[in-house]
Amino acid sequence: MSDRKISQSILKRMQDYIEGEECGLKIKAQYVDGVVFPPSDAQLLGQWFEYECTGALPPYDSERVPEPVRLKNGNLSKAYERMEYQVANYKALLKHYDVKIKSIGEEIEYGDARGTTDIIAEVDGQLAIIDLKASGLIRDKWNPLGWEDIANAYKPKMKVLTQAIHYKYIARNLFQTDDVPFYFWIFSTTNEKDYRIIKAEIDEDEYDLHERVLRDAKVYLEQTLEKGFKARPSMLRCRNCPLAHSCKEKVEFAEVEKVYYTSQL
Ligand code: SF4
Repeated sequence: MSDRKISQSILKRMQDYIEGEECGLKIKAQYVDGVVFPPSDAQLLGQWFEYECTGALPPYDSERVPEPVRLKNGNLSKAYERMEYQVANYKALLKHYDVKIKSIGEEIEYGDARGTTDIIAEVDGQLAIIDLKASGLIRDKWNPLGWEDIANAYKPKMKVLTQAIHYKYIARNLFQTDDVPFYFWIFSTTNEKDYRIIKAEIDEDEYDLHERVLRDAKVYLEQTLEKGFKARPSMLRCRNCPLAHSCKEKVEFAEVEKVYYTSQL
């Protein structure tokens, strides 16, 4: 078995792959071959916001200094103007909660797991991890990436919670302590007056479970690398895929979806 480490993003992408929601060729290009996909406008906005807050350069593209979008008159575009306001909110929050930043963009590892933290800081006298998010879904309950009701007992939003579990799992083992608090600081991209701080409290049993998930993910990843990732084309996925120009597996038209109906029970 290789010493390849599992990040929370590869964990989520592999889960999507298993569930048929992601194309293996895209995962391989990005996570194995190191292809840097062009960021979307929303990602560019988030990267600029984070850069303005912490000075961190974009992940997977650390040569590029984020630049804002400006209007012809030189002013920031409306979206960037909103996030400039949010940068001020972020700085005010640091003061308000007396957050003492220890490191930015620090790589942490334990066992098979690795992660890059946005901020490690002292909060209330305790070492904690803060993850910055710029989101248009800050009050959204129904989207799997929406920030409302993320720990619903019947339908927890694992696309969001996995990161908290993963980082807390690494940090508590690495720093040899019972708990390392993990905070999401989420800043709205649609309302400059709105932001949230969510502290993720994770049940003790979840850490053992996460360790098993990591082990299984690693075995599955190694096997898949050996056998080869499969293409999972779909019209919509391929239309938004940066590899589409050269991909032989791409699908350009909608497939026929069958529905079965009978009134006879
Ligand atoms: S074009 Fe479609 S099949 Fe090809 S890599 Fe992209 S998503 Fe996969």
